[in-house]
Amino acid sequence: MTVESIQNVTVIGAGTMGHGIAEITAMAGYSVTLQDVDSDALAEGYRRIEWSLDKLAENGVIESVDTVAGRIDTETETASAVKNADVVIEAVSEDLELKRTIFEDIDGHASTDAILASNTSSLSVSKIASEISRPERAVGLHFFNPPVKMDLVEVIYGAKTSDQTVDRALSFVNSLDKKPIEVQKDVFGFVVNNILHGFIDEPAWMVSRGEATIPEADAAMVHCRNYPMGPFELADLSGIDIAYDVRQAGDIPIPPVMQERVDAGEYGRKAGVGYYDYENGDGPMYEQGDGVTFDTLHVEACMANKAAELLEQDVTTVEDIDTGMQLGAGFPVGICERADEIGLGTIVQKLSTFHEKYGESRYEPAEYLVQLVEEGHAGVAAGAGFYEYDTE
Ligand code: NAD
Repeated sequence: MTVESIQNVTVIGAGTMGHGIAEITAMAGYSVTLQDVDSDALAEGYRRIEWSLDKLAENGVIESVDTVAGRIDTETETASAVKNADVVIEAVSEDLELKRTIFEDIDGHASTDAILASNTSSLSVSKIASEISRPERAVGLHFFNPPVKMDLVEVIYGAKTSDQTVDRALSFVNSLDKKPIEVQKDVFGFVVNNILHGFIDEPAWMVSRGEATIPEADAAMVHCRNYPMGPFELADLSGIDIAYDVRQAGDIPIPPVMQERVDAGEYGRKAGVGYYDYENGDGPMYEQGDGVTFDTLHVEACMANKAAELLEQDVTTVEDIDTGMQLGAGFPVGICERADEIGLGTIVQKLSTFHEKYGESRYEPAEYLVQLVEEGHAGVAAGAGFYEYDTE
């Protein structure tokens, strides 16, 4: 069901994310305007929507392609695209200056109570909206790729976003049949990517230090810990260059194995070679037995530490972290639930050992985690950890 106060939605940028967001918004019953400055990209975006709707109709997910496609108009001009919009979702390339300019442009042409949302995956919502007249209407709406399949949307507060804007944004996301999680502070990486950095980077540090091999790490995380993909396999799929740029932008140290791939132009699947060879090889090559010696606790302890830091900073809740990691990253269970199973004392001990050995600040156990352990909230075995457990 659509939200009463929202009829018209404009999506700016018809690329990978924009066309998908326009598609699901039309499926939910809204009138959609898809805008792109590049008319070829716009036509291609619309063609991709029609292709996807055909598949959904074949599978009985929607009744009529024409009805849904008929709700979508296309536009190349921003001013006319946004003038009747109740919600504008910007999904152009990940470039702060470009997004800032577009937000100013939208601000000048959209109605005063329209929500102005950005689908940025790593930039600051506050910075994107810093020059607009009503920053209280700006919000992050971080959809995951592909929007038609991924059920999660992170709803992010910028520094000046009002509760009313977030409430409307949450209702809008629910009306798309997606699950929103609230990110109450505009921290780098928001929730899901913040924790996912640990999943990808820690194995890369271990390989860089000669403590493990790539197939060992991937085999262990998939076969021993049930993650849907190994960290290196995932990095190859999502693009090592993109991961690299995000870390550069966030001042996050780059593991040497990642640097080497970037220097060699070996960006992953799209380049034909990354951590694995897709051109002359068979892509990810690992077997169940490869993972038995890999230290999975190292990786999971670092992710749990990141989760604790987010809780310490009041960015989000335990439940939203776990929902986010399951729906946004395909984790088999949330990282807080996993940490409780492992035992928070074990995790703090592991992190302290690393902190002492490597001196890196990311290994320092979060105060929140230490406090939980000190209070006897050491995980499932203790009856409480990140969660409370019914021990009856
Ligand atoms: P993309 O390169 O596929 O598409 C960007 C589109 O924006 C292009 O069609 C381009 O023509 C258009 N564009 C550029 N300048 C414009 C302007 N001034 N006005 C209107 N349109 C303009 O990019 P993408 O992968 O869809 O990413 C879009 C945003 O979504 C980025 O902020 C990205 O970080 C975020 N995001 C991407 C993914 C992903 O997996 N691709 C996932 C989540 C979030």
